[in-house]
Amino acid sequence: MTTLLLSHPACLDHLNPMGHPERPDRIRAIERVLEQEKFQGLAREQAPMASIEMIALAHPLDYVEQVRDAAPKEGMVRLDADTTMSPGTFEAAMRAAGGAVQAVDEVMTGKVANAFVATRPPGHHAETATPMGFCLFNNAAVAARHAQKQHGAERVAIVDFDVHHGNGSQDIFWNDASVMYCSTHQMPLYPGTGAVSDRGAQNTIVNAPLRPGDGGDRFREAMETVILPRLEGFAPDLIIISAGFDAHMRDPLANLNFLEPDYAWVTQKLMELADRRCDGRVVSLLEGGYDLEGLSKSVAAHVTALMRG
Ligand SMILES: [Zn+2]
Repeated sequence: MTTLLLSHPACLDHLNPMGHPERPDRIRAIERVLEQEKFQGLAREQAPMASIEMIALAHPLDYVEQVRDAAPKEGMVRLDADTTMSPGTFEAAMRAAGGAVQAVDEVMTGKVANAFVATRPPGHHAETATPMGFCLFNNAAVAARHAQKQHGAERVAIVDFDVHHGNGSQDIFWNDASVMYCSTHQMPLYPGTGAVSDRGAQNTIVNAPLRPGDGGDRFREAMETVILPRLEGFAPDLIIISAGFDAHMRDPLANLNFLEPDYAWVTQKLMELADRRCDGRVVSLLEGGYDLEGLSKSVAAHVTALMRG
């Protein structure tokens, strides 16, 4: 069974101000590394645009329309201190969410074993009705709700190893016992949420914060002792990974010290759990990662593990 890779050139057309870390070169660096011989076995598809109704599975319809209507014809508009729209942003955001939905469709129907969606803008900071932290629509949340609505998944788990806490995913699923949100992240760090005591109304939010300077050993310990046991007990029908690679040692936005083998390890662990619980169904969505070398090498390690290489 194959691993699906979804991306789209329109994701290069979402522009942020000069010097902004969330830039089109991130996708170019990933595409370059995935051109290597050992990735020839990937099934490659262009990410379709989500419909507004799909986005509205995770956000109020009027929020989706407000974001659409905020897009400038030229130049840029700021939605918050570090979240910007350019003329190409809306299509890029719709393809980021649409790629996530397409990945869910192909994984849930068994057409592919698993999938990696290399799109931007990222999604995990987007709250129910608030764009934030480079994110407009919460791609992981849209994917989770789509798996439930369209494919009858009863329980979906989102596992987020981006260095920042996914406040948006936590917000959207705070009251929802059918979606477990698990996160490792540096604390203290933007956005400030994600304490161990943030458990959600149904005890299905699982936060395992790490301290500045922590490396892969602490990450693996948090996964082994906190997150993997909770996931095992939850028995998800699908695992969605919010795959941010900004906990890498080289990343300029934070102070954790993960290395490529840590990303291979966590991918392997999640796949083993998915094998036991849900026929191996894993959909991985790109979130952060701002050092191009750290990002591309970490994605290579992650995708190699998805391909069981
Ligand atoms: Zn991040």
